[in-house]
Amino acid sequence: MRKLMSECLPARSLELLDQVARLGGERHVPVYVVGGFVRDLMLGAGNLDIDVVVEGNGLRFARELAARLGAGTTPHPRFGTTVLTFPDGSHLDVATARRETYRQPGALPDVKPGTIAEDMARRDFSINSLAIRLSVPEPLKPDEKDRAPVGNPGLSEPHCPSGEEWELIDLNGGVRDLQNKTIRILHDDSFVDDPTRIFRAVRFEQRLGFTMEKNTQEKLKQALRDQRVDRLSGHRVFNELIAILEEPDCLNSLRRMAALEIFQAVERGWKLEEPHFQVLENLSRLDEDPVLKQVADQQDTLRTMLLGLLWPLAEALFHKVLGRLDPPGKLRVELTRDRQQVLKILEGLARQPAVTDVELYRLMDGVSPESACWSAVAAGDERKAGLVRRFFSVLRPRGKVSLTGQDLIRLGLKPGPRFQEVFEALLQARLEGRVGSREEEETLVREMFPDPDRIRN
Ligand code: ATP
Repeated sequence: MRKLMSECLPARSLELLDQVARLGGERHVPVYVVGGFVRDLMLGAGNLDIDVVVEGNGLRFARELAARLGAGTTPHPRFGTTVLTFPDGSHLDVATARRETYRQPGALPDVKPGTIAEDMARRDFSINSLAIRLSVPEPLKPDEKDRAPVGNPGLSEPHCPSGEEWELIDLNGGVRDLQNKTIRILHDDSFVDDPTRIFRAVRFEQRLGFTMEKNTQEKLKQALRDQRVDRLSGHRVFNELIAILEEPDCLNSLRRMAALEIFQAVERGWKLEEPHFQVLENLSRLDEDPVLKQVADQQDTLRTMLLGLLWPLAEALFHKVLGRLDPPGKLRVELTRDRQQVLKILEGLARQPAVTDVELYRLMDGVSPESACWSAVAAGDERKAGLVRRFFSVLRPRGKVSLTGQDLIRLGLKPGPRFQEVFEALLQARLEGRVGSREEEETLVREMFPDPDRIRN
C-alpha cells in the first residue's frame, strides 16, 4: 500500500499518515484511513481528503493528534468526529469507528462506538467501504469483527509501523467492485435507511463511469416508488443536489437523475427533458464566447445552474420546489429575483419591433450575472442571444452616465422632474456613441440648456 501511496500522494499527505500511524502505535489504538481516500487510491488517483477512523476514543485521539501537529480542532461529540484544521487551511477528519442504527428511515442515525468492520458495514457502497490499517500489526481475522471497540489492550509495546505493513481491509468486496466498475449497496435496506444514498449512487456512478449493479438499481427504484425521498429534510436533499452540481461533469448526473425520475421524487411535477439539458449544456460553454465570457466569469455557477434547473417550472411549482429544497434564505431570495429578471428580459428580447438600444440597456442594466447568463442561453434563438451580446459588447461599456445630480446643479440646473429627462438624453447620447466622456456630457448639457435659468422648473 505504501508504494501505491507514494506514487499517488503528495509527500505532505504521506507525512500526515505517518504521524497518524505513529500516534496510533504509541497509544495502542488501531487507526485506519478510510472511505473515498482509499477508493481513489485504488483507482490510482490522489485524494487529499483524509478520513481517519479510530477503533477507540476518536475524540481523544484527535485532540492528541491536533496538539502534536499544531492543528485546530472542531469536535462533534454526538458523532464522535473531529475536524482538524491546519494552518494552511487543509483538513483532516478523525472519527470514532461506529455502528449506526436507523430508528426512523431517512432520519439521522443513532450512533454507537463500534469496530472497524461495523464502521465499514454502515457505509453507502462497497467501493466506499475500504480501509487501510495504519497502526496494528496483525491482520483483522473474521472472528475479530465483533471485537470490543476500545483501544487495543493486547499490545504492550508501542507499535510504529514501517508503512510497508499498511494493509488494505476489504470486507465488502470493494476491490472487486472497483475492478468491475460497479456501484453496489451493502444491504437491501440501504436506500430506505438513508435516501441521500440515491443521490450519491448517481453521483459516484457518473463521476467514475461505473454502473449500478442490478439489485442496487432495483432497490433504488423501489425506494423512489415508495417515496423514500419524502423522508429527507429539504436541507439534506439540497446538499445532495449541490454535491452533484459541484461535480465537473454534473450534466451526466442530472440526466441520469431525470431518467430515474429523481427530480419527480423530490417534488411531484419537477420534470426535466432532453431539450432542457441541451440549454444547460450551453451554459457551460458561455465562457467560450468572447463577449459573454466576462459575465460568465462573474456568475456563481451553482446559482445559475439552480436557476436553470428550476426554470421549466411554472411559478407555483417553482416556489413549491424552492420550499421543498429549503436553500439558505439569501439564495432563495436571489433565485426568486433572478427568475423575475430573466422573465422580464426574455419578454423584452422577444418584443417586435425589436427593442431600441435604450430599452435594451434599461432591460439588462444592473441584472445579476446569473440572470444575464441564463437569459443568454435561454433566449432560444440567435437574434435574441445577439441582443444580449450587444448589451455586453456595446451598450454596457458605453452606457454609464458620468454626471450626477450634483453635477447638474453645478451646471446651473435646478433639481426637479427635468433631471430625469436630462439623464435620459445623456444615456441616449452615450448609447449612440455621441458622447464618450464626462467632459462631452457636460458640453451636451450646456448645448441642451444654453440658458439654465430658463429651465429652472
Ligand atoms: P468525495 O470524493 O465526493 O469526497 P467521499 O467518498 O470522500 O467522496 P464523502 O461524502 O466525503 O465522500 O464521504 C466520506 C465517506 O463516508 C464515504 O466514502 C462513505 O464511506 C461514507 N459516507 C458518506 N455519506 C454516506 C452515507 N450517506 N451513507 C453511508 N456512508 C456514507
